[in-house]
Amino acid sequence: MAYTLPPLPYAYDALEPSIDTRTMEIHHDKHHQAYVDNANKALEGSDMANMPVDELITKLDQVPADKKNALRNNAGGHANHGLFWTLMRAGQDNNQPSGELATAISDSFGSFDAFKDKFEDAAKTRFGSGWAWLVMQGGKLAVVSTANQDSPLMGEAIAGVSGTPILGVDVWEHAYYLNYQNKRPDYLKAFWNVVNWDEVAKLYAAAK
Ligand code: MN
Repeated sequence: MAYTLPPLPYAYDALEPSIDTRTMEIHHDKHHQAYVDNANKALEGSDMANMPVDELITKLDQVPADKKNALRNNAGGHANHGLFWTLMRAGQDNNQPSGELATAISDSFGSFDAFKDKFEDAAKTRFGSGWAWLVMQGGKLAVVSTANQDSPLMGEAIAGVSGTPILGVDVWEHAYYLNYQNKRPDYLKAFWNVVNWDEVAKLYAAAK
């Protein structure tokens, strides 16, 4: 069974003005579609094609050597973007986590603001293309980043970090360049308006 592009869980313009409509159209319809298509191409004729993509990327050591890079990049891209869309929603004033997740973030990082600084730092200092993540790692929250389309789910040996992502931000230029050009820090500030903390809380509850 081939992978398919999941529809956005909201309209293309739902994240305005934090993330503009045109960026969402190109990012979802072109970039994410290309990861899906290229992952399917690499999986043609393989019995691993039936595996959910989040599982496949934990087993890159088992894929044929000549497919490993293509799947690292494209199954990784499909998994990361499929998650990313669900982690955002229409902007809200004073958008922040509540309940158990809010407590866990404060306990782990000192305060919500200290967490935001750490996450933005990880995203800003990821040279070139990649992602910053809030992950559950051995029962604890941690901020990490990965290059290209690597996911913490791929594990230390491949991604350089491990963990279960509960929040992630795409810092490839294709995620922000139309609206923010070279100003990645401005995009990251705006990202906080559209984080879907209800979804992050669900992922936290499932991972802890
Ligand atoms: Mn992207």
